[in-house]
Amino acid sequence: MHFTDLGLRAEILRSIADQGYDTPTPIQAQAIPVVLEGRDLMAAAQTGTGKTAGFTLPILQLLSTNETSKVSMKRFKPRCLILVPTRELAVQVHESVRTYGRHLPLKSAVIYGGVGMGNQLAALKSGVDIIVATPGRLLDHIEQRSADLSGIEILVLDEADRMLDMGFIRDIRKLIALLPKKKQCLLFSATFSDDIRGLIAGLLHNPVSVEVARRNATIEVISQSVYHVDRDRKKELLIQLINDNGWHQVLVFTRTKHGADALSERLTKAGIKSAALHGNKSQGQRQRALDDFKRLKVHVLVATDIAARGIDIDELPHVVNYELPNVPEDYVHRIGRTGRAGSSGEAVSLVCVDEHSLLRDIERLLKRDIEKRIVPGFEPDPRIKAEPIQKPRSGQQPHSNKPRSHQPRTPSGQPKFQAARRPRSPGPSHRGA
Ligand code: AMP
Repeated sequence: MHFTDLGLRAEILRSIADQGYDTPTPIQAQAIPVVLEGRDLMAAAQTGTGKTAGFTLPILQLLSTNETSKVSMKRFKPRCLILVPTRELAVQVHESVRTYGRHLPLKSAVIYGGVGMGNQLAALKSGVDIIVATPGRLLDHIEQRSADLSGIEILVLDEADRMLDMGFIRDIRKLIALLPKKKQCLLFSATFSDDIRGLIAGLLHNPVSVEVARRNATIEVISQSVYHVDRDRKKELLIQLINDNGWHQVLVFTRTKHGADALSERLTKAGIKSAALHGNKSQGQRQRALDDFKRLKVHVLVATDIAARGIDIDELPHVVNYELPNVPEDYVHRIGRTGRAGSSGEAVSLVCVDEHSLLRDIERLLKRDIEKRIVPGFEPDPRIKAEPIQKPRSGQQPHSNKPRSHQPRTPSGQPKFQAARRPRSPGPSHRGA
């Protein structure tokens, strides 16, 4: 199949060609016709599948051709809202909207917290067709009456599972309540928990489900290994692996923000250029860390799952699980960061006695054993007993139908991202919600 077979207009085909793409990815081939038909969509697809273009391209087509829509005649009202979990993903999705829409007269704005309101206010005031936003900051704009969602014709919830994990459910529901009843809804999620199904139930009407294969095909080209090592010797082993193998671009996952900071500091002390990426960092710090890592000014980026979600780095050679994730599916998300676009990559996990059951769960999910290694000098001490590790994120617990507590907010009103733990009680909200 070719992009020209999908019925997209010439301006859009031109921007696709500008990118050098000619064949739609499986999610694009399935999703684009459904969206063009005006149907609701429920898509199981992860980052790296081309899902962003999967919704952006047909939305641009609908918005640019649907001139007769009554709503579109109301000046200055945005017509499409794309909600995403993180600031980084907001920037990336907005970049795609601009890239693919460059030959069209549509306007867009990106809205996220952690930065001043000024530029966003100016963009919204000038009138936009498409808003790409994180939920918290968009609600701030609604409160200030700088954003009006009453003309929205298309709603996209991107990485819906992550938005729920991050405690955005109440914000999302508040935003949905502000949208017109009649609208087209597109939902993208890597997993479909009961919580997601609950959200979908009232929102999607007769949706078409599309699913693209998990990245197993890609995972085949990733060489995976497990290094058994004692809990308190992981830092030393990681430093040795990086130095001995000459790794120059490594994404390292830790379970907590504190752990990410501590590890990054230790690596820096060992002379390895490193930065930490997590939700407690300012937007500027996060963007700088990411840019430095992409440009190889920083060789190791230590990140929590949520902070790393959606980050798109072409052909990342190495991913390290400094700690195994609590949820086996997250292992697949993590290692899927390497070996992109068919190039081979390497995923290494440092596993201590506490994590043996997590490793078993991962191998069960993968339906295969991962090669085990022990580095001489780092043999695990058999006298060390397993200690309990942090509980899974409540958002990932199977069949948890409990109402979700609201994320605590920083003084700026931005939700605090919680990588591995979520608050048990409702946090303070400046909205008094
Ligand atoms: P996504 O899953 O949307 O984050 O996209 C993953 C990567 O695939 C991005 O770097 C896109 O630029 C790239 N991409 C999207 N569509 C295509 C396509 N049809 N052919 C080749 N690469 C693509």
